[in-house]
Amino acid sequence: MITAYLLWLYRSSTSHAPNWTKYLTCIISAMEKASHLSVIVDLSPTQWHLSAQTSNQYPLSIETFLSQLLAFLNAHIASKHENSLVVFGAFPGKSVLLYSSTELLSDDVPSLDANSYLPFKLVDSTVVQRIMNEFDAIGELDEEPSCALVGAVTKALCYINRITHPSSTTAGVAEDPSIVHDPRILILSVSPDLSSSYIPIMNAIFSAQKLKVTIDVCKVYGPDTVFLQQAAHLTNGSYIYLERRDALLQYLIMSFLSPTSIRKILAVPKQDKIDFRAACFCHKNIVDIGFVCSVCLSIFCQPLPVCST
Ligand SMILES: [Zn+2]
Ligand SMILES: [Zn+2]
Repeated sequence: MITAYLLWLYRSSTSHAPNWTKYLTCIISAMEKASHLSVIVDLSPTQWHLSAQTSNQYPLSIETFLSQLLAFLNAHIASKHENSLVVFGAFPGKSVLLYSSTELLSDDVPSLDANSYLPFKLVDSTVVQRIMNEFDAIGELDEEPSCALVGAVTKALCYINRITHPSSTTAGVAEDPSIVHDPRILILSVSPDLSSSYIPIMNAIFSAQKLKVTIDVCKVYGPDTVFLQQAAHLTNGSYIYLERRDALLQYLIMSFLSPTSIRKILAVPKQDKIDFRAACFCHKNIVDIGFVCSVCLSIFCQPLPVCST
């Protein structure tokens, strides 16, 4: 891993004089700390069906997506032994914990195999098995409810709050090595914006800012989402729209594998333009020009004499 970082740094610094001492100090201090990654996977069956259509320029099926995602998750675990990982799935109408490196149930442990590394096998089999179970439970619905993305983000924030603020009994101990330093959330989104979730998403962003959590977004399929662009911008994360969907793993590793402390010296791609539009509180439409109540800062699409909020 260190070799890969150094090679990357060398390539990115050949154009200007490198300050190796600074780089190395920064890398070593970042490598010493455990980092936490929460991954939120948007698992809308309709959107994934559309994504796999061969009429797309780069069709991406959920099977290919999962195999590349699992390779990325394994890379995160392999970067450092103390790294923690949690995976949430946003299914239609509900969000589910798919994997957590800190809480393993006894029935999660797969059969041992001499040719596989147990931590990798544990992640791969648990995530795939739980996604399959959820998809089987969904079955044939006439109308698919929207994906519970905000629910998954909220659960991820609660999880991070728990691991970064251990119980008061351990407070006072100088430095617990299990405390994570730069927690981050990676959202892999395929669904379009849900304008009714504007307020919950903004609340989640403010909580993330308070917890110093970085939110990264990878838009795998579908149009750009305004709210997730704002989430990444406001928490100092990256929003990446996947142009070459056949290169998903490369995007994930180049942009989202490095912990936030190391990104100061790595040129991690960020979005160059951000859509700052908001949704009105009255009709939940995304508006270009809004009218803001001077008392409670509610946003409306037309001027109102008395604030309805
Ligand atoms: Zn309105
Ligand atoms: Zn008001």
